[in-house]
Amino acid sequence: MNKSETNAWDFARQQLDNAAEKLNLDPWIHKRLRQARRELTVSIPIKMDSGEVEVFTGYRVQHSLTLGPTKGGIRYHPQVTLDEVKALAMWMSWKCALVELPYGGAKGGVICNPKEMSLGELERLTRRYTSEIIDIIGPEKDIPAPDVNTNPQVMAWTMDTFSMNRGYSVPGVVTGKPLVIGGSKGRNEATGRGVSFSVLNIIRHLGMSPKGMRVATQGFGNVGSVAAEILCAEGLNIVALSDSKGGIYNPKGLDPHRVLAHKKESGSVIEFKGADFVTNEELLLLDCDVLIPAALENQITRVNADKIQARTIVEGANGPTTPDADEILEGKGVLLVPDVLANAGGVIVSYLEWVQAMERYFWEKEEVNQKLESILNRSFNQVLQLSLEKKVSMRMAALMIAIDRVAEAMKIRGLYP
Ligand code: NAD
Repeated sequence: MNKSETNAWDFARQQLDNAAEKLNLDPWIHKRLRQARRELTVSIPIKMDSGEVEVFTGYRVQHSLTLGPTKGGIRYHPQVTLDEVKALAMWMSWKCALVELPYGGAKGGVICNPKEMSLGELERLTRRYTSEIIDIIGPEKDIPAPDVNTNPQVMAWTMDTFSMNRGYSVPGVVTGKPLVIGGSKGRNEATGRGVSFSVLNIIRHLGMSPKGMRVATQGFGNVGSVAAEILCAEGLNIVALSDSKGGIYNPKGLDPHRVLAHKKESGSVIEFKGADFVTNEELLLLDCDVLIPAALENQITRVNADKIQARTIVEGANGPTTPDADEILEGKGVLLVPDVLANAGGVIVSYLEWVQAMERYFWEKEEVNQKLESILNRSFNQVLQLSLEKKVSMRMAALMIAIDRVAEAMKIRGLYP
């Protein structure tokens, strides 16, 4: 496929256009939402361990600020583009609105390969990137969080850089922080936990028992590994797992704990004993009940959608399915729980972390998990209801609910000046 067929920003806009038509959206609101509110490109000079200076490029995009400060992760990856960051920021706007958080959507990214960088280089990159975007972030403005290849340590450096510039600790500037500097219990597992709730909810909706349901998961990072572990504990059968190097398959089932230990030791899930190797492309087409794409965008496209055998897809990743593929899957009767709903657990607990950091009052894990479950279940039921009522896909229903909420707020606030 050529580049224009895999442009996430085009896809995000296409989804917006489709939902706008169904909602009969006011044209000025539609026009405004097709653009990001702010796009910042920064260059990030870093002294590498070799003594040479490399200059990296980073972005921070804020799509909509109508519902509150913006929220969204920071991604470190060699293939980051401004268009990708814009798409991810728009999806964050919909996700926050869908689960009724007082946030708009944002996203950040730096073009780099963190796997080839030392810890010192990553720290310098993070601190310089933070200082380059410092004017547009803050607890009341825009609150970053982890995404692909960033983690609590990266958030700690971000928080420290911001705080050093202010002269006092500002824990509310990022979420996904380590507990000791104001992180929330349950945040690290929140996205994967939310994905597992979506899987269990959709299975229940189909009137089936989760026990023994065969699950294939693409991507074994924060989201994929936690979802696989929880689903395995719930009695589902994890038949395939993968990371960027490839995947493993065993129809009798894999133990995600043991695969994680193997990955920690060897750097990848591949060569795990007692499983066959599959490529990431093959994994998507395996005979299974639930497919969880939990890696990157553009995995399920018009090229492979028709060959997918899973009867349900739960999107752990953002944007793994293209609009063309959506249509093909719908035609085949595949039930898909969309990203903005399925992976919203991360931003929900990020919101809970932000509230705790602002109040300096912390909750136990049970309380956090219980709030997460009740917010997600409420949203899941709203989306399912509308999808049944309007006879539209769950993606369309989720977008209609979210975009309608943002549009309503824009109308009530009015157009400045
Ligand atoms: P991560 O960096 O922890 O893990 C990413 C995983 O994907 C790794 O196992 C990596 O090896 C694998 N991967 C990378 N490229 C791949 C490829 N081409 N094919 C197959 N696997 C590949 O990242 P994460 O936080 O788990 O994020 C995964 C997805 O979930 C992303 O789309 C992200 O935007 C989305 N997401 C993350 C969060 C969060 O809280 N971390 C929240 C919502 C959505």
